[in-house]
Order: sequence, then structure tokens, then C-alpha cells
Amino acid sequence: MTAASSGLVLVLNSGSSSIKFQLVDPAAGTAVLSGLVEQIGEPGGPVTDHGAGLRLIHRQLEDSGIDLAAVAAVGHRVVHGGELFHAPTLITDEVVREIAWLAELAPLHNPANVIGIEVARKDFPDVPHVAVFDTGFFHSLPPAAAGYAIDRDVATRYGIRRYGFHGTSHEYVAGEVATLLGREPGGLNVIVLHLGNGASASAIRGGVAVETSMGLTPLEGLVMGTRSGDIDPGVLFHLNRAAGLDIDQLDELLNRSSGLKGLCGVNDFRELLEQRDAGGAAGEAAGLAYDIYVHRLRKYVGAYLAVLGRVDAIAFTAGVGENAPSVREDALAGLDGLGIVVDRARNRSGKGARVISPDDSPTTVLVVPTNEELAIARAAWQFV
Ligand code: ADP
Repeated sequence: MTAASSGLVLVLNSGSSSIKFQLVDPAAGTAVLSGLVEQIGEPGGPVTDHGAGLRLIHRQLEDSGIDLAAVAAVGHRVVHGGELFHAPTLITDEVVREIAWLAELAPLHNPANVIGIEVARKDFPDVPHVAVFDTGFFHSLPPAAAGYAIDRDVATRYGIRRYGFHGTSHEYVAGEVATLLGREPGGLNVIVLHLGNGASASAIRGGVAVETSMGLTPLEGLVMGTRSGDIDPGVLFHLNRAAGLDIDQLDELLNRSSGLKGLCGVNDFRELLEQRDAGGAAGEAAGLAYDIYVHRLRKYVGAYLAVLGRVDAIAFTAGVGENAPSVREDALAGLDGLGIVVDRARNRSGKGARVISPDDSPTTVLVVPTNEELAIARAAWQFV
């Protein structure tokens, strides 16, 4: 492999029952190989634990003929860095302990990240392992944006504040916007709308994040595939008292069976659009789900316009943001008076990173494919 001369980074994203991997050439900015092992530890799954899952990945890498000696670093996506970590961090035993300790803030994610790190350090013992935190980019949120209006002592004692997530994607996309516009990131005010299964918005002033829609956990903010996003916390008290739902049932309700899935039965946006267009009662439910999704998105765009004062660019990214032109049009429709216009022809054609506003628009609207793996690989490469 010619890529071997410049070195490769193995990027790992370990979930509770899956490990996604991508072997990245950070210099070329390309993925050499990618894949995933799913259903780890589940009945019928291919392997019983993460260690065996990683050995499976190891074998896939070997079978593909890649010289594993070219792997010069391993980059790990870690969901929650809490107040401890923001910059990409060289992993030591101490760092692993601290990430495990932060599991209290991210019980669904950090434990799996730790297991992934532990097995990978055994498998690739001679290269630097680097943790890249999903919360990291939002470390810069000003106190007014990061704080919840609750009892100060309670908040301090339990680390309750807004941390934000998808930071790697928001930072990467804002950087790409600057490159596409031929401007310095320091001179640009950007709104990034990351619309995937999980969804989040951010306001970025001069390359520094000043607002984002996710909070203590990735549950706050936009409507998502299965998560409710913003909701009156009083709903939880009411459901506890009136329906007898306990804390785990409420967690399950808001994280796994709300959002688009709760509203119309499907969390995949393509299926939602098909269901809506097919009509009938199911179509009506899907139409309402779409409307709530888009309405929430517009509210955030409006709020972030006010937060930033001047917005140079609005960028759509991730599965829905990159592939659903109607969402982009509907979310920004009727904002001409604010200098925000989506050109229908541009929005409906083309591929990849591109401008979809007219040339003379005060605010440039763009589609920018995200690439979290590349961003993690580049961050890990700094330690080689
Ligand atoms: P994840 O958060 O899991 O990384 P993605 O960024 O891949 O998610 O986004 C997944 C979402 O993107 C799904 O809801 C999927 O339906 C949606 N999506 C993918 N392609 C299209 C498309 N052509 N039109 C509408 N939605 C799409």
C-alpha cells in the first residue's frame, strides 16, 4: 500500500453492542477501509464481547491485505469528556480511569467507550491511542449558554450544565465552510445543523462555539430519530404521577421511543417521507412528525440568528441534512427578509459540499458532508 508510507490511523467508535471502525489516511483525507461489528454479546450475534469483536476487526484488516505496521495511531471517539477533557487526549491508564469515572454523566455511552479503549490498547500496544471527545468543541460555551437555571449548589455538586455533543462534526463542518468560502474561520459566524439519527444545532462565532442544542445529555434540543429533544420537564413528573412510569421507563420513553419514531412509528427519515407521501392515517402522522421536526429546526435557526447577530453561513450536514432537500427548504423558507434564501434549483441538484443559496445572498447556505472519522484521525495524528 502506498498509503503505508504516510501512516494510517485506525478510528474506533465503540458502542454498547457495536464497534464501528475506519482506517484513515489522514494526509490524503481518505478512508482506506471501514466496517462494523454489531450485536456484540447479543443472542445470535457474531461475538460475545468487545475483545472478540476487535479481533474480528483485526482479522478483517489483515484479510484486506493492509500492512498493519502502517497503523501509526488509534483514535477513539469518546462521548463525554465532562469538565475534565476537551482537547484530544493521549490515553494513559489514568485517562481511562477518568473516562470511566465520567460514565455517571453518560451511562449509555462512556462505559462502552472504555471497553473499546481497553481492548484496543491490548491489540495495538505500540502506538499512541488518542481520545477525541464529542463534548470537546463545546467546552467554549459561555457561562450564560452553558448554565441551567437550577439550584447552584445542586448543579455544582452533580456537574449539571450544558456540555453539547457531536462537537467533532460541528467543528469539522465549520472548518469546511471556511475553506469552501475561502475565508479564515476566525472571521466567520456560522450556524451548523447536524441532522442525523441524533440531531443538534450550533452557533459558532469566529471558530468558537457559543451555543448548541444538546445539553447535559444528547437528549435536549432538536427532534431526533427516537429522542424527543426539548420537552417541558413537567411532563416527566406528570407521567410519573398519572401513568406510574418509573425513571427507567421515562428514560426509555424519551430516548428510544419518542422523536420521529414516537410521532409516526418510524425513525428513518426516508421511510417517514415515503409514509407521508402514501397518505392515509399513517401518512397524516408522518406529515405531522415532519412539521414538528421542521418547526423545531426553524426555532433554533431563529434563536441562533439572535445569538450571533450576524450570520455568514448556515450549513446542513449528516444523513438528513445532506440528503433531504425539502427539509433544507422548509426550515429556511420565508427568511428572505433576514438575508437567508435557498435556491431551489441548487438545493435540488448537485452532490457533495456545495452552496445552495443564490450568489448575492448576505447569508450563504451550504450542504457540507460531515466526516467525524477524518477529524478524529487528524486529531490522533498529532500524537504520532
Ligand atoms: P447517524 O446519526 O446514525 O450517524 P446519519 O447521519 O447516517 O445518522 O443519518 C441517518 C438519517 O439520515 C436517517 O434518518 C436516514 O433516513 C436519513 N437519510 C439518509 N439518506 C436520506 C435521504 N436520501 N433522504 C432523506 N433522509 C435520508
